[in-house]
Amino acid sequence: MEKSPQWEKLVLGGLVLTMEEDSEPIADGAIAIEKGKIAAVGPASDLLEKAPTCEVLDASHCIVMPGLVNTHSHLAMSLLRGLADDLPLKTWLEEHIWPAEAKVMNRETVALGTRLAAAEQLLAGVSTTTDMYFFADAVCEALVEAGLRGVIAESLIDASTPRCAGPDEMLEKQRELCLDWKDHPLITPSIAAHAPYTVGAPNLVREAEIAEEFGLPLQIHVAETRWEVETSLEKHKLTPVAYLESIGFLSDHIVAAHCVHLSPEDIEILAENKVGVSHNPVSNLKLASGLSPVEQMRAAGVRVGLGTDGAASNNTLDLLRDLQIATLLHKGTSGDPTALPARAVLEMATRVGADILGLGERIGRLKVGFDADIACFALNSAHSTPVYDPYSHMAFAARASDIRHTIVGGKIVVRDGELQTMDLEELLARSREVAAKIRG
Ligand SMILES: [Zn+2]
Repeated sequence: MEKSPQWEKLVLGGLVLTMEEDSEPIADGAIAIEKGKIAAVGPASDLLEKAPTCEVLDASHCIVMPGLVNTHSHLAMSLLRGLADDLPLKTWLEEHIWPAEAKVMNRETVALGTRLAAAEQLLAGVSTTTDMYFFADAVCEALVEAGLRGVIAESLIDASTPRCAGPDEMLEKQRELCLDWKDHPLITPSIAAHAPYTVGAPNLVREAEIAEEFGLPLQIHVAETRWEVETSLEKHKLTPVAYLESIGFLSDHIVAAHCVHLSPEDIEILAENKVGVSHNPVSNLKLASGLSPVEQMRAAGVRVGLGTDGAASNNTLDLLRDLQIATLLHKGTSGDPTALPARAVLEMATRVGADILGLGERIGRLKVGFDADIACFALNSAHSTPVYDPYSHMAFAARASDIRHTIVGGKIVVRDGELQTMDLEELLARSREVAAKIRG
């Protein structure tokens, strides 16, 4: 008789979406986990027969899918959620956000805000997040405590930050982070430049060299507003994308957030250089930045993932909401109800997102050998009954609060809707204390 496999746990039952290309949903499926990795995916009856004594996590009446991948955020800005809304980007940033950051952001508050952001995302089915902010090592430590996977960078700007006196110190911190965290199972260190209009060519080139040396993602905001494009045309006689290409910055390491104002030539440049793009529909809508040409980019072969941006410009880190708004937005504005269909937008939030972060062979799909990053969304409420097509259910009807379990690297971090890794009440109380200080 065949020996029983030594699986640690079975996620049992539910409708399994592997998010593999051309895959069919597995009704009453199961996923076996061993040493943090996916050991088997298949019908529940088959897997249960092979390991009858394995620990079981009940996922019946759930959609079981890869955890969502948030490809752009500033986590600690969760503490600035709702601080200043209904304002133009420049006023919002210069008169409200930057002064608040100068007042309260330090190593301790960045860690706190990151833990708050991690809790919010884990409770919304997000298993991988991204960050470009300050005190990146404190961000990494906070995410490890929370049990959330992260692609984390110390952001560089040609100015001072709450942490560093200038860009040389920031470059030093970036290199340190890459060395210290390069082999961590949950953390992928990363490099980040704020934007082509706030970082000069010499430092952008230095950052591209670090990304190349370590083979790690390089995050940057690109072509977010019309103002940015006009300024770049005046200063460099080139669009931001063409300018970045001209200095040799672009490569497949780049995760370019926003990419709202692009010319057809810009889209070709992004495709040729294999740049990954993070589409942030809610942030772009709220700040009235414009409409990113997502369908044109996808048609040109550009890999486009989804991001929330920081909670000060969204105002949640609920990637499912961005996913749902993305599909509605591109249908509504194109006049084409077939634009950005349900399955495509779910792919953006899982395997394509993972791919642009350089993690496409580790997460984003439910595949044997991949890290066990799994989200189980419950289907037992009035708004989630019935379900004819699980992809369209996720794209048009599901809610983040439907989350039943979130598993990251094989560890159950949300079980039956409850966060397992941190004291949520304490976290909320401490976050309110910081908000009171900002209000002053
Ligand atoms: Zn951003």
